[in-house]
Amino acid sequence: MGKYSNVAHYQDFSELKNILERSENSYDMEKITKAYKLAEESHGDQRRVSGIPYILHPTSVACIVAELGMDTDSICGALLHDVVEDTPVMLDEITKQFGSDVAKLIDGVTKISKIPYSTREQQQAENIRKMLIAMADDIRVIIIKLADRLHNMRTMDCMPEQKRRDKSLENMQVFAPIAHRLGIKTIKDELEDRSLQYLDPVGYKEIEDALLMNEEGRDRFIESIKKQILEKTENTIKNVYISGRVKSINSIYRKTFMQGRTIDQIFDVFAVRVIVDTVPDCYNVLGVVHDIFKPIPNRFKDYISMPKPNMYQSLHTTVLDNKAIPFEVQIRTWEMHYTAEYGIAAHWKYKLGMGGGKKGDRLQENIDKVKSMILDQLQAEDATDIAKNIRNDFEENDVYVFTPKGDVINLPRGSTPVDLAYIIHTQVGHRMVGAKVNGKIVPIDYKLKTGEICEIITQKEEHPNKSWIDICKTASAKSKIRQWYKNEKRDENIVEGKQMLEREFKRHGINLTEEEYPEFLKKIMVKKQYNTLDDFYAAIGYGGVQLWKIIPRLKEEYQKTYAVDIEEISVPQAPVKRNKATSGVVIEGADDVLVKFSNCCNPLPGDDIIGYITRGYGVSIHKRNCTNVPKDISKCEEPERWVSCYWEDEVGEAFRSTLQITATDRTGLLADVTIKLSNMHIFIHSLNSRELKDGKAVVTATIDVMGRNHLRGVISKLSDINGIEEIKRL
Ligand code: MN
Repeated sequence: MGKYSNVAHYQDFSELKNILERSENSYDMEKITKAYKLAEESHGDQRRVSGIPYILHPTSVACIVAELGMDTDSICGALLHDVVEDTPVMLDEITKQFGSDVAKLIDGVTKISKIPYSTREQQQAENIRKMLIAMADDIRVIIIKLADRLHNMRTMDCMPEQKRRDKSLENMQVFAPIAHRLGIKTIKDELEDRSLQYLDPVGYKEIEDALLMNEEGRDRFIESIKKQILEKTENTIKNVYISGRVKSINSIYRKTFMQGRTIDQIFDVFAVRVIVDTVPDCYNVLGVVHDIFKPIPNRFKDYISMPKPNMYQSLHTTVLDNKAIPFEVQIRTWEMHYTAEYGIAAHWKYKLGMGGGKKGDRLQENIDKVKSMILDQLQAEDATDIAKNIRNDFEENDVYVFTPKGDVINLPRGSTPVDLAYIIHTQVGHRMVGAKVNGKIVPIDYKLKTGEICEIITQKEEHPNKSWIDICKTASAKSKIRQWYKNEKRDENIVEGKQMLEREFKRHGINLTEEEYPEFLKKIMVKKQYNTLDDFYAAIGYGGVQLWKIIPRLKEEYQKTYAVDIEEISVPQAPVKRNKATSGVVIEGADDVLVKFSNCCNPLPGDDIIGYITRGYGVSIHKRNCTNVPKDISKCEEPERWVSCYWEDEVGEAFRSTLQITATDRTGLLADVTIKLSNMHIFIHSLNSRELKDGKAVVTATIDVMGRNHLRGVISKLSDINGIEEIKRL
């Protein structure tokens, strides 16, 4: 029998009670029993596909949730997770009997179960993962859902082949990565291994057999390693606990089949895990291990000072025993161990321990533990905040909406059905006449929310409405609507544009005959790059040229040319508040244009800059000395596309800058750079380091700074770090 039993795995209520009794946490058994009774009654004679009474499924899910150390409400939620489905009445009843927390958990799990997963593309899987987290107001919802998935995998054998594969793929792409992100390794490993077993039974068996074959030798090997470490630490380090562990089959699978290596080429097929009481002891044990065994260079990782994003902490090193067999050693404290296995779920355990009646020292001790473990890193105050933080970094400013076909579409917050329509297809946008959200007609300026299913209603002979430009959020939808007006309605635009111009002329006392128009408008046409008068009128018609912007200049021109005084008439005000200078850059002769900073040279305030008028994407700003800027503009191909621009005095926005830091290679270098940057509250986009042949290392950091002076300050602070030789801006 392999690592995980293939026998259908069900646990009943007495087993749940056993788990809860064994636990250090205190539980409201009355409430849990009541929840069980309600679940039992509601599921009645229902059976699983295998014929087993249905109630055993939620009870087993509750057992998994209980093993993770979750609280009373989570266990009630797990017991009742399949009860509600489509009856809101039932949900009201649950609120009455068990409180709104349990009701919300159940509602959350039910909603998440209705998400149509389409795992065709990795990108979509990523969206679904983000959306799942964003949709769950309470991270406990996700934990119950993961337990539900896991139990379904444990009892998957009686399902048809196709279903097993579909579910397995979803686990690999959606649920296991979520478990990983939340640090719940126990669930992640089992979900992956069980899924792999269905996705590639032959490959799975191959690894399983190889591991079984070596089992005895491995046990002996680990025993001998254990003995050597214990002998050396006996008198110096207290309470050293050592165990051997085999990697999950899925992780060995990935290394063997995907990286083309054989099992004995994988260093860490098995590892020795050392658990001690304190952080200093971790480093002491590391010293001892490196003393007894020869460490393999570059295999040491300090996840204690640099925890992984999912809160994982440990020291990792790979060493050779006296027969030159490589093996990995993981060193951690018990707290780290608990977090490594149960991740976010560990917090409920600690929280419960605090509420267990013994206040005072015990409470403080627990708070300290939790703090040192994770809170410092996440800068949060309690477990709910951590959950919130984890959710927030998924949420950002995006919403995830479904099409009726189940495709997930990612939109900026505040997007409307019009935006969605244009993302689906330009023609869908052009022909849109309305939209339905979750089956109900909504106004066209409805703000879409994550998890909603939005259907666009189209009609063949329809066309976009100009007012949509103000309704939609995405620039691409706006420009597509403008484009339509430009192309489809050229004749009307010319007529309309000319009328609009004449109207404004009249208002401003500009009196010209039709014959005088071409000469009078010539200058502005050239400036705005229109070849014919019709093009210019058309642009006014579809909104490409905004009259309120050009009229003042024309008026001035008129006064100059014809030397007449015009009675002051109120100039039309800008229809929308201009968003000028959000970019911090002023472009000569143009405002309100889209400004973007080029990636080739990442200009910063203070740099000498120049703008390039792109085709359709506004003006891109380069450093004057960027290699992509011609040395002599007058001699380049389209000199008129280069415009001068300068920085606004006040720059309130962050700019991205990439630094290349050369230093003598040493442990903790990257950690020091990170700590320095985060002490300065610098946002880090990416941070990599690589070794050079000469014993040096290069760290490349992409960060946000508020301008050149700020960057100078950052560089000087970084230069203080031990071993740093040079910092270059790329
Ligand atoms: Mn279920």
